[in-house]
Amino acid sequence: MSLIVVGTMAFDAIETPFGKSGQIVGGSATYVAWSASNFVRPVNQISVIGYDFPQEELNALAARGVQLEGVQIKQDEKSFFWAGKYHLDMNTRDTLDTQLNVLANFDPVVPDSYQGSEFLMLGNLMPSLQLSVIKQLKQRPKLIVMDTMNFWMDIAMPDLEEVLKEVDVLMLNDSEARQLSGQFSLVKAAKEIRKMGPKYVVIKKGEHGALLFHDENVFFAPALPLEDVFDPTGAGDTFAGGFIGHLAATKDISFENMKTAIIKGSALASFCVEKFGTTRMKEITISDIDQRVQQFVDLVNFDITLTNNI
Ligand code: AMP
Repeated sequence: MSLIVVGTMAFDAIETPFGKSGQIVGGSATYVAWSASNFVRPVNQISVIGYDFPQEELNALAARGVQLEGVQIKQDEKSFFWAGKYHLDMNTRDTLDTQLNVLANFDPVVPDSYQGSEFLMLGNLMPSLQLSVIKQLKQRPKLIVMDTMNFWMDIAMPDLEEVLKEVDVLMLNDSEARQLSGQFSLVKAAKEIRKMGPKYVVIKKGEHGALLFHDENVFFAPALPLEDVFDPTGAGDTFAGGFIGHLAATKDISFENMKTAIIKGSALASFCVEKFGTTRMKEITISDIDQRVQQFVDLVNFDITLTNNI
């Protein structure tokens, strides 16, 4: 089993109602890699960083089985930078700043050693770059999962439509699903989005869980009710990493197994939000993850006896 992950490796500055993070390491591909590497190794990473990205972060990822041959280092440029501020409910946030820096001229190159990977996770990134990676693969992966965000819908919609034609699973949050489809009902939104290409659509609803749509089937997974949500940044990418990591580890891309993958993704995301940045992802063990998955099972498991109501 092998997985390619594409996305940003970045610096973030996060403000929540509880405090400010200062400049910390983030990026869509960083979170996906930390999460997916719990289930599958190697994770074949494709990204770009500047001279300022900390070597110890690269070492920590490498020690987790993350291959960095596809991560370009631009010695005279700064890494991608994103700043965001969360509202009081922590479900919504404003982007305060996006500095593309190294991303502005990024031309991803798939190393030969990554060819033949069976799973591809297109983390949040310019759609044209996501497409470029797909086009470079000599053999189409068994499953292509894609994440995106409103930023790209606003500035790169034609490119986004091109990539959508090529992917199997699209992940996005509820407001993005509404923006992309022009539909308020999430059921109708998923139907519209499936017409654009992806056979499966996962709509994330923050603390209200996630929905998986395929044909006439719908599956709902709750988010774990947590006492404290400290920093939601990266929860979506961590969810994606758990989802594709589980599918890659089991090599089973059936709808039934995707349900389990959604629960694993949700469990991982529930850890991510407990501390700033990737801090919590670096601490957890497989047994922590198993215990959390069990909490999900207990949360939604109930017996019911149907009675004949007159
Ligand atoms: P999430 O909270 O899962 O949506 O992901 C947050 C991460 O996405 C942060 O660590 C940012 O560095 C990264 N990010 C923010 N904006 C973008 C963007 N336009 N393209 C790619 N990555 C981004």
